[in-house]
Amino acid sequence: MKKHVVLLFAFLLSFGLIFGMNPAPVQAKTTFVTIGTGGITGVYYPTGGAIAKMVNKKRKEYGIRATVESTGGSVFNVNAIMAGDLEFGVVQSDRQYQAIHGLAEWEEKGVQEDLRAVFSIHPESVTLVASVDSGIKDIKDLKGKRVNIGNPGSGQRQNSIDALEAVGLNYENDLQAEGVKAAEAPGLLQDGRLDAFFYTVGHPSGAFKEATAGATKVRFVPIGGPGIDALIKAKPYYAKSIIPIELYPGAENDGDVDTFGVKATFVTSAKVPDEVVYALTKEVFDNFEEFKKLHPAYQVLTKEGMLDGLSAPIHEGAMKYYKEAGLKK
Ligand code: GLU
Repeated sequence: MKKHVVLLFAFLLSFGLIFGMNPAPVQAKTTFVTIGTGGITGVYYPTGGAIAKMVNKKRKEYGIRATVESTGGSVFNVNAIMAGDLEFGVVQSDRQYQAIHGLAEWEEKGVQEDLRAVFSIHPESVTLVASVDSGIKDIKDLKGKRVNIGNPGSGQRQNSIDALEAVGLNYENDLQAEGVKAAEAPGLLQDGRLDAFFYTVGHPSGAFKEATAGATKVRFVPIGGPGIDALIKAKPYYAKSIIPIELYPGAENDGDVDTFGVKATFVTSAKVPDEVVYALTKEVFDNFEEFKKLHPAYQVLTKEGMLDGLSAPIHEGAMKYYKEAGLKK
């Protein structure tokens, strides 16, 4: 008899019928969102993790559960978001620009109308590293060498092609261009199976720590000169940048390395509900100091700067937050 009473009580409790109220304030449902990032030795992967961490803390309040996926990079992320396979992604600012204008990889597919910007994040440098034995000291020295320019789907692939073209090198004819993922390149360089590789990434990154920490001596190769200056002038999304050499004590360089770069940005689709984008944006910006501590590449971030470098329209949910916070009118 007693057992039956307990069972009835449990039954009623589970429907929230006892005392005419819910036993606990439970969200009606959980919304699962996935953030597309890059290789695990890049900065996108921990960035997706940092953003997910901020919003997941308030899981009970928002009913949102964010998870992170390692992917092939920027171009893959844009396409997966547009296909509805991912809700969010980290994407290079140049790739965001190209997707919203129907350029580069999107020339045939056309303008990606549903692409929406949320905020920008850390700066990324087009980074070239080579083994000392290869003798490569200038980007022009890549002629005839085995060079990883980036996997299809990555952001860096087009940056490598642009940089090579700017100094008069055709990646198909003038060098042995490889298209492996960034996570594999440091190992291949250390094994002597690559002479050099490009990676557009924030610093410090696991990939360059790995590339500079092995038995094969390597150096960062500066990317500059009149051709590169003209490239930066011609493309609205490129700007000069510097790789602080103190971040990589194993590299055979004497000083900081000059190159050019872009910004990492956080994007979504117009189809993702406003309240979801609002919640993610709010948690990152309301807890900004805490967010900044999650990766050394975020040191330079400011709230205002995180609204620069966006070329797609800002998602309505993010805009709602920026207006409330006085960051946008
Ligand atoms: N910039 C690279 C890309 O778009 C990814 C860099 C990273 O994972 O940090 O593919």
